[in-house]
Order: sequence, then structure tokens, then C-alpha cells
Amino acid sequence: MQIRCPTCNKLTTWKENDFRPFCSERCKLIDLGMWASEQYRIIEPAESITYLDKNDEIPQEDKTQKPFSKDTDK
Ligand SMILES: [Zn+2]
Repeated sequence: MQIRCPTCNKLTTWKENDFRPFCSERCKLIDLGMWASEQYRIIEPAESITYLDKNDEIPQEDKTQKPFSKDTDK
């Protein structure tokens, strides 16, 4: 039986293949690594959103009281 490696699309055999459905250990690790980094991306934004929510209440008061130096420069 022949299968296609999901990582590099190379044909490989199912039998006597320690890394199936991948053709090699490298392709298996690449696939696992991509999967892990995708999970990271899902967790990261969720955390920054909660941080923004907390900080949003306090700095908004500060901004209205202090004049912007950029505006006075020009
Ligand atoms: Zn491969």
C-alpha cells in the first residue's frame, strides 16, 4: 500500500514505515511543529485581549489630561 506524505506529498509505503503517515521523521516533526505553533497563535491573541480590556479603563483618563507633545511640535 502506498500513501502520500501530508507534509511533502512524496509517495511512501505504509508498511515498514515508522513515521506513517509521513515519509520520514523530519516530515513528522515538521507537521507536529506547525500544529503546535498554530495552537500558540490561538492562545496569544486571547490573552492580549483581556489585558487590553483591563488597561483600557485607566489610560483613557490619563490621555485627556495630558496634552500631546506631537501636536505642539508642528
Ligand atoms: Zn515527507
